Formats: sequence, structure tokens, C-alpha cells
Amino acid sequence: MLKIPDSAYASLRQHGEETYPYECCGVLLGHFEDDGTKTVTRIARCGNTREDSPHNRYNIDPKELIPIQREGRERGEDIVGFYHSHPDHPARWSETDLAEAHWFGCSYVITSVEKGKAAVTNSFELTGRDEADKKFVEEGLNMP
Ligand SMILES: [Zn+2]
Repeated sequence: MLKIPDSAYASLRQHGEETYPYECCGVLLGHFEDDGTKTVTRIARCGNTREDSPHNRYNIDPKELIPIQREGRERGEDIVGFYHSHPDHPARWSETDLAEAHWFGCSYVITSVEKGKAAVTNSFELTGRDEADKKFVEEGLNMP
């Protein structure tokens, strides 16, 4: 389960509308709770560095991720997930999304953007013991 404040939820959906017809991407910062819930406190927008195929691929530059992670740590926040958009595609993960996901226990939030309007937003948790065993499991997305 991913708990996300209204404002952060609205912001990540809006980000997908702004970058349409290209994918947007960003980071979810917050806390891992003892019961397995992840609570988002804020999001950090990132630039999509995929120049080969930005309409159906995304990539967060480590140069962008490291300062986000550092700033989060200073505020007592962890990276609890990532988000990106699917322009004119359903809010379901792709094989590429799974292949490129490496943060076990984190949430991967996907928003479908249809003709420039944010439509469905789903969240998937990356589970498994290792790279060979990993899979996405759909999880609830709740506004606290
Ligand atoms: Zn994707």
C-alpha cells in the first residue's frame, strides 16, 4: 500500500500532462512504515534523459538521483518509489519497466496520459529476492 498526499498525487499526474507526448519521471520520498505501508511526504520531479525514445522510455540520471537522495536523508526521508507516465498507453507496467526496475520494496507508480490528460494512476511494488526472481505486484494507492 502506498499512501500519497493529494497534492503530491495531483503533481505527479500534472507532470505527465506537461511532458506529453513524452514520458515524465520522478522520485517519491517518504517513509517505510512497520506494517509494510509506504507513506509519501513529497515528490521530486526529474528530467527524462532518454533521448532515443522519450515517448515510451524513461531514465533518471544518477546525477539527478544522488542529490535527491542526499537531500531526503538530511530531512529524514527515504526514496520509497518512482513514478513515470505512459502517453497514450495503459497504466500497466511493461517488460522494459520491469527490466529497468532495481529498487526492491519500492513503489513504481504509472499514470496513463490520454491525449494530454492524465487518466488512470496505478502503483506496483517491486518484489522478489533478486533480479532473476523480481516481479511487480499491484498495490493500493491511498490518499491519507
Ligand atoms: Zn513504463
